[in-house]
Amino acid sequence: ATAAHSSARTALKTVFGFDAFKPGQEAVVDAVLAGRDVLAVMPTGSGKSLCYQLPALMRDGPVVVVSPLIALMRDQVRQMRDYGVAAGSLNSANDADENRRVWGALRDGTLRLVYAAPERLVREDTVAMLRDCRPSLLAIDEAHCVSQWGHDFRPEYLALGQVRAALGGVQTIALTATADAATRADIVARLFEVEPEVFVQGFDRPNLFLAMQPKGSARNQVAAFVAQRTGANGIVYCSSRKKTEELAEYLRGQGHRALAYHAGLEKERRDEVQDTFQAEDGIVVVATVAFGMGIDKPDVRYVAHADLPKSVEAYYQEIGRAGRDGLPADTLTLYGLDDMRLRRVQIEESDASEAQKRVERQRFNALVALCEAPRCRRQTLLAYFGETTEPCGHCDLCLQGVETFDGTIEAQKAMSA
Ligand code: ADP
Ligand code: MG
Ligand code: ZN
Repeated sequence: ATAAHSSARTALKTVFGFDAFKPGQEAVVDAVLAGRDVLAVMPTGSGKSLCYQLPALMRDGPVVVVSPLIALMRDQVRQMRDYGVAAGSLNSANDADENRRVWGALRDGTLRLVYAAPERLVREDTVAMLRDCRPSLLAIDEAHCVSQWGHDFRPEYLALGQVRAALGGVQTIALTATADAATRADIVARLFEVEPEVFVQGFDRPNLFLAMQPKGSARNQVAAFVAQRTGANGIVYCSSRKKTEELAEYLRGQGHRALAYHAGLEKERRDEVQDTFQAEDGIVVVATVAFGMGIDKPDVRYVAHADLPKSVEAYYQEIGRAGRDGLPADTLTLYGLDDMRLRRVQIEESDASEAQKRVERQRFNALVALCEAPRCRRQTLLAYFGETTEPCGHCDLCLQGVETFDGTIEAQKAMSA
């Protein structure tokens, strides 16, 4: 493994031009090179592709990559070719010539990576031909597509467990950015016969200060929080359109440049708010969750929740819009009993199946636990994603904990005196 490890490092530099692994990559690459089945859960942008691209250079047989989107496949094939790595794809957009070339290169052993759409891969003729090419690894990208609880369920993914068996139980790595426990259990149950080695890494955003407060007057609490950060770029999330407008108006009254944003506004107005936020500084956008997708402002210095988010995933995503530049950023989430009651009613009254409701309840309960558990917020949050960490020292409870701890020592001194 050590020899494989050092040649992996060499290839990282010489083929890809990277000086170092990103967090989490090295352990996953090592496990793959050691021949183990792996489930890798890492956030978007963390470099999951490399975890099978690098091993592909160091194996005899080709790596078969399953990817749900033809566009993604094409990008990766092009990128691999730019790196000088022989790669091809099998999908419905190929013409006969391209298919012949790919199969030819697979048979003569020159192709390192073959990307396949799941609907192509589940065909018996494809699997039979691939088996003859003795693939060394099956990489299932966007593996959450196998889960019916997710938003990207792809029925063809359900057959991938059989594909793996038909390929002779080939070593498999599944990759996803969806860290949810229910989804993860689904992935393992559907794709693996034996429990794989699970890696969860890179979800921590150490520059974000995490804080949560019981809700009193949300307006005053948020206004105080914003006032301490006057002139910084921020986002305040509310649960309703009406609240975003009221709170934005209140903040304007306090002298802030506050703009409301929600899906009920004219498209023109929404674009205007988004562009202003993107281009200027010192603006606080008071928004529903409609605000966020496509926002790519690196220097958002705070995110506040005037109302409780829908789930622990939603919370993580929303606070994650702060501090993308890696510099310190603050978060504050208010939670009230009414928020909790409302969300529970929403879940029960939705049209979802009983099984889906159970999952939604779990996801919400995990958020409630995060609000109420008397331990490091980051530890609780990352534990939900499956990551184990020490108390962070950078959340409200860690700061309070330090005081409590000192107090305890004082109390002990007093008692033993
Ligand atoms: P993911 O699939 O996890 O969202 P990608 O595999 O698409 O992430 O990689 C995201 C970006 O990170 C790509 O541009 C990739 O080239 C880059 N990248 C991957 N590994 C490294 C590394 N070790 N050092 C620097 N950049 C890397
Ligand atoms: Mg990816
Ligand atoms: Zn902490």
